[in-house]
Amino acid sequence: MKDSSGKKTMYLVLLGAPGAGKGTQAVVIAKEFKLPHLASGDLFRQAVQKGTKLGELVKSYMEKGALVPDDVTIQVISVRLNEPDCAKGCVFDGFPRTLEQAKALDKALAERGKALDKAIYIDVPEEELMKRLGGRWVCRQCQAPYHEVTSPPKTSGKCDRCGGELYQRPDDNETTIKERLKVYFAQTTPLLDYYQEKGKLVKIDGKLGIEQVSESVLEALGSAKVR
Ligand code: AMP
Repeated sequence: MKDSSGKKTMYLVLLGAPGAGKGTQAVVIAKEFKLPHLASGDLFRQAVQKGTKLGELVKSYMEKGALVPDDVTIQVISVRLNEPDCAKGCVFDGFPRTLEQAKALDKALAERGKALDKAIYIDVPEEELMKRLGGRWVCRQCQAPYHEVTSPPKTSGKCDRCGGELYQRPDDNETTIKERLKVYFAQTTPLLDYYQEKGKLVKIDGKLGIEQVSESVLEALGSAKVR
């Protein structure tokens, strides 16, 4: 896609339930196309960790597995979108999660003379999501995800990529996982129709291994790597 001044841009949204592998694939796409990776969950977790005003506000929603209110989320993303590294594009991971957020994103991009290229939906069945989230470990430093069965780190408790400490997210417990999935099916699945109607939805089978899913995603984005 080109922006209003004729420059090439690439704005992508990753859709899928918690545990579908959005974060993993967002890292692959960001690296391949040299784009910043905007993960709303990471932005909120950093705010909670730093104890900022935003952190205080979002903590209780996150602990319950509920969505942070749209106005707060949209504001945080808009501020990040204004940073110069997002002028050529970015990969949104975990945002938008409601129709209101999706519409706000279209508006925010349009105001900047830009437009969304594609919404990539990583489709994974519900029973598989429960399994994945239960065994998930994340690097405290670089947010790289691991799974104790399907993608364990080389050294237990340590990130392969940066050597950071691995931890289990407090919202990856069984009760909160169930709530997050419930919220996803109620609030986020309507976005599939929204992007389908705009001709932007690309559906990817997310049941396969990480590398096979990456290949499908890169192929759908026209990467030279898989041509
Ligand atoms: P994630 O890391 O994407 O699973 O997000 C973790 C938590 O952050 C979610 O369960 C929500 O509480 C909150 N969150 C992240 N992204 C959004 C969003 N786009 N809208 C509302 N809440 C969000």
